[in-house]
Amino acid sequence: MECLKLSFAALSLAAVSAFAGPITTVPWNGHPGAATFTFDDGLHSQTNNLTFLDNMDAKVTFFVCTGTMDFSTNSQPHLNYAKKGHEIGNHTVNHKNLTQGADLNSEIGGAATKLRSMGLEVTSLATPYCAQNATVKNAINQEHFINRGCGGGGLTGWDNEPDWMQIDSHYWQASSNVASFKSSLDQAASGKWHVQLNHGVAGNWDVISTADIKTLIEYAVSKNLWVATFSTVGAYLRAHFTIDKATATNTANGFTVRWTSPHAHMPKSVPLRVKIQGAQGKTVSQKGKEVKPNSDGTYTIEFMALELEVSGEPIEVKPFKGAIEIPGTVEAENYDTYAYSDADGKSDETGYRSDDAGIVKGGSGYALGYTSADDYFEYTLDVKKAGKYKVVINGATGNSTASSVTVSVGDKKVETEIPSKGDWNTYSEVEAGELELAAGKQTLRLTINTNYINVDWIKFVDESGTTNIARKIAFEHGTAMVHCQVFDLNGQLVKSANVMAGSASEAWNLVKVGLRKGAYIMRYGEAGQGSHVVKVRLQ
Ligand SMILES: [Zn+2]
Repeated sequence: MECLKLSFAALSLAAVSAFAGPITTVPWNGHPGAATFTFDDGLHSQTNNLTFLDNMDAKVTFFVCTGTMDFSTNSQPHLNYAKKGHEIGNHTVNHKNLTQGADLNSEIGGAATKLRSMGLEVTSLATPYCAQNATVKNAINQEHFINRGCGGGGLTGWDNEPDWMQIDSHYWQASSNVASFKSSLDQAASGKWHVQLNHGVAGNWDVISTADIKTLIEYAVSKNLWVATFSTVGAYLRAHFTIDKATATNTANGFTVRWTSPHAHMPKSVPLRVKIQGAQGKTVSQKGKEVKPNSDGTYTIEFMALELEVSGEPIEVKPFKGAIEIPGTVEAENYDTYAYSDADGKSDETGYRSDDAGIVKGGSGYALGYTSADDYFEYTLDVKKAGKYKVVINGATGNSTASSVTVSVGDKKVETEIPSKGDWNTYSEVEAGELELAAGKQTLRLTINTNYINVDWIKFVDESGTTNIARKIAFEHGTAMVHCQVFDLNGQLVKSANVMAGSASEAWNLVKVGLRKGAYIMRYGEAGQGSHVVKVRLQ
């Protein structure tokens, strides 16, 4: 679950009656880009030789003619592909050049009607010979939300709305080679949609060999491209231009977003992967049915529902148990409410917190657990005194190698490794370094840099006065004769005395008499027990 401070910003907007753009579509269904492989003319060389698709996570589009070529005399092989989720699109009745006086109504509408009578949805068209003009496009627009053309590199971007009646494609011809199409797929992997136009597969015309088309589809899958049909990707792309602009209207306990379909012939179902600002901690529903968030905090919604509702108690980022006073200890499990990002969504197994960040028992009580790289947790600090603080972290990891965390306040940060002790229950205190903090309230962020680190606490030790440290060191034999030597910071001995004391601070209190204000080093020790050194300050 991704819980950013952004959601807090959305809340302040919620004070007005409507606000813009709470929904943002994740490009290309969460993939780096998309690839659509289209096969024209309804040829049996295609259905005979694309059987390898049965074993792949890839769906393709066949543009068929209802009055000519193989599909017109035996449609069953293509219909079998349609049953497996591949698309049948319109390629007109007779494959005439539509710009040269063809009857557009009968060529386009006739084929659409015929295909729909076969139980096919038929939302897209490809013009024969990629020939279209304004009149042709207008006729296609009566029946289909998208049309495929060709003639260029076949790449369409995410950000600018294309001409839906002329989506470009990269045309495989007899002289084409695999390398140049791989190059198109490489470009698609940087945020674009590659559409490829093929004809015969190991037969008919403009032939691509079965091995070459298999290589290209496998290459697209290996690049993690979204390999889906022309209408599936096209509708996703078209929907995003509508929904990303949709406005929200506030309700008593949340907001609703409504939009209209951009075309009468959009597919009946257009699943969209989206981020919804202000939805964290609330219930998202469409037509009264709850939509659960995905593990990364996105939602997969139905665009064709044309509405979405967010409801529930408002969330608020605030300190869990009040601001944490510094100097002092930050218990890692006491992050501010909703101020975290936790990739795995594994819930608190202790019941200590009610959200879905992972808390485990360990260390000095509870600790953060089940962490992943880039998870972070934020804490509101109340720094009582400006100055340099030593940062000490208590953490554990069962990783076989050391794993690191970063502690940051504003632009200042320290990073340190948590040593591996072979399990997640053996905690180590690690000095991470120094942070100079201003006085007052500020936000601390703990960032996990390596998967699977447990963090128990982060301690901020005031470095300016070390008398606190001295006070803790009690002598082994209670009150005893202690030999003390006091040096200035240049190493000059300034005082030497034997005192009866029970701790280093008692010894210092006795020996400091008569010294000027300033910083010193005190060497001290019981007779026969070795000596210790402490930095002390006389204020
Ligand atoms: Zn054709």
